[in-house]
Amino acid sequence: MKYVPEPFRIKMVEKIKPLTRQEREARIQAANYNLFGLHAQDVYIDLLTDSGTGAMSSDQWAGIMQGDEAYAGSKSYYHLIDAGKDIFGYDFIQPVHQGRAGEKVLFPLFLGKGKYAISNTFFDTTRAHVELAGARAIDCVVEAAKNPAVRAPFKGNMDTAKLEQLINELGAENVGLVVLTITNNSAGGQPVSMENIKTTAQICKKYNLTLEIDAARFAENAYFIKRDEPGYGDKSLQDIIREMFSHGDIFHMSSKKDAIVNMGGILGVKDAAHPIIAGIKAHCISYEGFYTYGGMSGRDMEALAIGLYEGTEEDFLRYRIGQAEYLAAQLDTAGIVYQSPVGGHGLFIDAAALFPHIPYTEFPAQVLAIELYKEAGIRTCDIGSFMLGNDPDTGVQLQSDFEFTRFAIPRRVYTQAHFDIMAEALIAIKDRAHTIERGMKITWEPPILRHFQAKLAYV
Ligand SMILES: *Cc1c(COP(=O)(O)O)cnc(C)c1O
Repeated sequence: MKYVPEPFRIKMVEKIKPLTRQEREARIQAANYNLFGLHAQDVYIDLLTDSGTGAMSSDQWAGIMQGDEAYAGSKSYYHLIDAGKDIFGYDFIQPVHQGRAGEKVLFPLFLGKGKYAISNTFFDTTRAHVELAGARAIDCVVEAAKNPAVRAPFKGNMDTAKLEQLINELGAENVGLVVLTITNNSAGGQPVSMENIKTTAQICKKYNLTLEIDAARFAENAYFIKRDEPGYGDKSLQDIIREMFSHGDIFHMSSKKDAIVNMGGILGVKDAAHPIIAGIKAHCISYEGFYTYGGMSGRDMEALAIGLYEGTEEDFLRYRIGQAEYLAAQLDTAGIVYQSPVGGHGLFIDAAALFPHIPYTEFPAQVLAIELYKEAGIRTCDIGSFMLGNDPDTGVQLQSDFEFTRFAIPRRVYTQAHFDIMAEALIAIKDRAHTIERGMKITWEPPILRHFQAKLAYV
């Protein structure tokens, strides 16, 4: 497997330096075994998230200098909404400061007590905002997604038969939103096919439900459609993206992912006459700021307008997905199981397969994340039962369908040698996996989104 060469050269660098193993062991203990509690300077290769961690281009930095900071109607706002309208084909584009801000603005307009929202898989903050709006979130992903070793295309798809069954069981009047997460982050960054988007949209139409797209990784999803879905190989990514969004009614997106900015988000509504727009503007003004900046600086809107285009370039996406595939090929040789095929934004290692003796109640994916930090100063995170948390009604620990440790790959940041270090660390841990006997227990947790703050100890 050849490494796809970078379609850019490096103009500015940031120094990083590994600590010793002994120092790392002390640091992770001091952080209560929560990787979010580490100081970033104590991390050598930071794969905690691909969110807001990308390297901006010289064009984006030039845009920063040109940002217009007018309170209302700035030039940068109009650049951003022009880019948004052009790329997504939606009439109404609203900046917000990040993805979850979009959720906070949008969800209470559709959801409340007694309502349900159904998604292929809810991302953690998205699930939290459904619950904060008083509603319940239901995941409805295809069965193939639940078996990481099965190599199938479009494992992020909605289980459309189950979706329709759920709508009938719950009553269409109680379903406030259907949310398609593209790519499907929590199911391993797996893409959703155009056919599945279309079928989901048809079901929504049939029951008069709103289809909302959680679009953080829309460009990666479009790349997978072009590469793997029959009939799309000759289409431009631009056309594929427009077609994807033409099936939805509304979208929200964290621009910290595919739009390669450090902070930002967007809400979009297809139809300029949609009655929800007045509510979006009102919530924006209360929570985010006036609707022509929505919590963003003018300079950040400028960088975002440029990043939206850069993030959808095909040679960039080929290089990006190629990095994860390069790492995956080394894991194949070593017999390490991950959600396959490789998804959009990184690798999701099946920690349950690596530590079959550690039960979900002791968080095997968190155990692997801790070992990776101790081994090589690599910071990853748990996408498993530790992240999922407790049932909001009963307080009982939920069992996740997956126990993944996520290697999220920042955009345009790490080189081939860094990827070799990742593979070496995983292989070293696999070789001694049977000697790692103890799982983790939680010693303190907050009521919601606990994985960001919880304190842990060895069982
Ligand atoms: C990152 C992300 C969010 C939340 O966005 P933030 O910018 O982190 O607030 C929501 N949904 C998905 C699918 C994401 O990947």
